[in-house]
Amino acid sequence: MIAMRIVTGTISHETHVMSNISTGLAEFRSRRLLYGDELFKEFTETATPAGGIIEGCKRHGFELIPTVFASATPSGIVTKEAFDTILAGILDGVRMAEPFDAVVLHLHGAGVSAEYPDIEGKVLSEVRKIAGDRPVVATFDLHANYTEEMVESADMLIGYDTYPHVDGYERGVEAVELTARMLNGSLSPTLGFRQPPMLPALQVQFTGRYPMKRLIEEAHKMEGLDSVESITVAAGFPWSDIPEAGMSFIVTTNDDQLLADSLAGELHDMAWNMRREFLVSPMPLGEALRYVGKVVDGPIVLADIGDNPGGGAPEDGTVVLRALLEEGLTDGVFALIWDPESVKAAVEAGVGEEVSLVLGGKTDEMHGGPLEVTGVVKNVTDGKFTNLGPMGTGSESDLGETVVVDIGGNDVIVTSKRVQPLDLGLYESQGIDITGKRFVVVKSSVHFRAAHEPVASEIIELDTPGLTSPRLAGFEFKNIRRPIFPLDVEMLGITELKSMEDE
Ligand SMILES: [Zn+2]
Repeated sequence: MIAMRIVTGTISHETHVMSNISTGLAEFRSRRLLYGDELFKEFTETATPAGGIIEGCKRHGFELIPTVFASATPSGIVTKEAFDTILAGILDGVRMAEPFDAVVLHLHGAGVSAEYPDIEGKVLSEVRKIAGDRPVVATFDLHANYTEEMVESADMLIGYDTYPHVDGYERGVEAVELTARMLNGSLSPTLGFRQPPMLPALQVQFTGRYPMKRLIEEAHKMEGLDSVESITVAAGFPWSDIPEAGMSFIVTTNDDQLLADSLAGELHDMAWNMRREFLVSPMPLGEALRYVGKVVDGPIVLADIGDNPGGGAPEDGTVVLRALLEEGLTDGVFALIWDPESVKAAVEAGVGEEVSLVLGGKTDEMHGGPLEVTGVVKNVTDGKFTNLGPMGTGSESDLGETVVVDIGGNDVIVTSKRVQPLDLGLYESQGIDITGKRFVVVKSSVHFRAAHEPVASEIIELDTPGLTSPRLAGFEFKNIRRPIFPLDVEMLGITELKSMEDE
């Protein structure tokens, strides 16, 4: 028997339209721009969606034909050149894979290019033109902003169930499994799609606690019903600033439109009724640092949630570092600050030598200006390490050339590339043991929890300014549909809330 042929491809970018770091091909190359079989070398046996798609095809005896895998660290709008090049690469690859049986893509879901506000909708609709009535299936990030074009162009859209994203591999395997059932004629996917007017900040998208946990549990319960094949609960990404940004529910049934619509409606209503639980209350910075000063049992993990590169912030903000030095805190780790110039200066000074730096604050005015500091260079590395997991276990990360500088008795990690500090392999690669430290600052919103919760004495979310601040009302959104919660206060239901408190 001739093996079924499955074509795959990826463009993955979470676009923060207010970032002034434009996203060109160089930004994709800096993270990952892979062609053809390079995919297997990079992702086989890794806990990633691509790793899951590879494994799923292996289990079914399918031949997998990779086209382009393009992924850049979250940043500003994708240039026309970058998107055109990547899209053309994927489409040429799909055409060259003829005769194929199905297309299984991995997309992020919150990408915006100079030309297209919904790049995934564009990719899917163009792939559909080539695939005709053959299955077109895609996996997505939990931060995907789903659109009508995406839903109409694909047979199935399968999103992560977790944030921190620890189920990319499982969703990749599942996408191939469901595709296999379409190919053998036992599945005719029918989608119900609903979007409540809700725009949750990243903190409250954490699936380890209420209210997201409740929604995911309900979706899993529904997945146990006859003819329900897959349910996606997406929390969305506010700063793509497209009309559809925010929360979505997609219910896939086996040829039962009524059931798909009614379950999507139930999830929609459930989320809406819980909307007040989606408000955020991080701790003021000063209060948090005074608290850290009194605590003996470490490490306390302090999340600089305003400057998370995983959401498009620059990761060179100095607000927290400045404050903790002023507070005189020592025996901490600062992960991390993106500043290639300072790396160069520290490398030139050499390990064991003193160096004066004008550190960070070089991208914009929102995250704290450059900080003049003097420290001792402790370590220089190439910044490459393997992720220990549970996110992306086995996959490679690259911080670029990286130094550790002792500043005021704290290990400050300075990198040449923007990488969200979420994996403990990062500290290991820098010769740092965080378990013996008093505190660790991470520039991350939620992802750090997967690896840090088991070793942290406590976790505190800091109310820091920046492009990924959960204070959504402070941003100038131009395109998001209105009214939407929580931007429009009338949707809070103040009177209702008041009467609840009175009870
Ligand atoms: Zn995400």
